[in-house]
Formats: sequence, C-alpha cells, structure tokens
Amino acid sequence: MIEDSHDDVLAQFRAVVSDLATAANAAGRAAETVHLVAVSKTHPAERIRPLLEAGHLLFGENRVQEAQQKWPALREAFPALELHLIGPLQTNKVRDAVALFDVIETVDRPKLARALKAEMDRTGRHLRCLIQVNTGAEPQKAGILPEEADAFIRDCRDELGLRIEGLMCIPPVDEDPVRHFACLSDLADRHGLPVRSMGMSGDYRQAVAAGATHVRVGTAIFGKRPPIGTQGA
Ligand SMILES: *Cc1c(COP(=O)(O)O)cnc(C)c1O
Repeated sequence: MIEDSHDDVLAQFRAVVSDLATAANAAGRAAETVHLVAVSKTHPAERIRPLLEAGHLLFGENRVQEAQQKWPALREAFPALELHLIGPLQTNKVRDAVALFDVIETVDRPKLARALKAEMDRTGRHLRCLIQVNTGAEPQKAGILPEEADAFIRDCRDELGLRIEGLMCIPPVDEDPVRHFACLSDLADRHGLPVRSMGMSGDYRQAVAAGATHVRVGTAIFGKRPPIGTQGA
C-alpha cells in the first residue's frame, strides 16, 4: 500500500475544507455552519497529528478499542480536541466510550440509551449524543428504524434525559443519498434538533446542500484505508 506523506494529508484536508465552504455558500449557508469531522479510523497517530498541529480539533473514530490506543496521548497534547464515536457501540464498551469520547453519534436502541444514561449518571460525564437513524431500513445496518425514530427520540430526551443534540445517518451505498439526507433533516426539524451528521467522502457536497451541520470525511483527507476484513472492523 502506498502511504501518503503528511503533506498530502494536510493538502487533502485543506482541499476538503475549501470544497465544503464552496458547497455551503452555494446552499446560501455560512461556511462556519458546517463542521468537518475528520474520520481517522485505521490511520495511526502520526498521520493525525499534523492536522491537530494545523489547528483542526474535530475527529471521528468508529471503534472504541482502536480509539483507546491512539487518542489518550493525542488528547494530552491537544486538550481542546473533540472526539466523536461514529461506529456501533456495544453495551459492554459503554464505560470505555463515555470515558474517552466527547460525542456519541450512534445511540440507536433503548438498551444502549439506558446503559449510556446509567454510566453518565455514575461518572457525571454527560456527553452530547446523536441518534443514528437507519434511513434505508437496511437489516445489516445499525440505527433506529425511521418508523420507530419519533418515539425513540422522545424517550431518549424526555424520559432518560440524555443530551440529544441531533441525528446521524449512513445512507445505503447503492442509492442516491439525497432522499436519505432529506429524511434525516425532516426528522430533525420535527423534533427541533439542531445537529445533522450526514455526508462522507463521496457525498458531502449533497449533504451540505441538504442541511448537514456535520460531515464525516475519512478517505478524502487521509487516503484509502485497508479493505474491510483486514482491519478487524
Ligand atoms: C468510515 C466512516 C466515514 C468516512 O467514510 P469515508 O468514505 O472514508 O469518508 C463516515 N461515517 C462513518 C460512520 C464511517 O464509519
């Protein structure tokens, strides 16, 4: 595999930032209303560090164990960074996740919501959370089903008192994502939720046009990851 140099990562990062600003302006939005979550999964700390040194502080990781190995040292060096969990969370990893992350983007079922609430009460670390919606109702994909989302959002927010700030989705790979982005935006509007985390390397421009407040971009910044199956994901 060809490794990009650190300069390439920075150059690619800057290209995405500029592209996002263009997409925001085209949608009549200020560039500052779109936050770039740099998805650093599978990439080692030395490829992440140049972005931190350049002042970027917002990152996403999809696996608790991998993040535990990379991020405590980076956080010590850059205390203001903000780390989002963007992958599925097992209840037996809730304790580690609450200790390590700042935002959990993948609250997707009642059992997990209750486990997060219990751990946040125990530790006093009341993290901001997003609810992941399986907008394509794909059986293999995480996320609450659209028809169950209204009740789940209300339960998380009003019954449990979790800090639900918005919604997140990953559209089906083989479909036009725009319908899914619109579905997520409508649902967020209906509940008065400000945050919409949607859009990845291939479709972040459309996501911005559809109202994304957070786009999660990995490949376009860090280059290709090893194929699924070789990374243990
Ligand atoms: C890996 C990942 C991304 C980034 O995907 P790219 O196509 O590499 O930009 C975004 N969101 C989630 C949930 C991911 O797991």
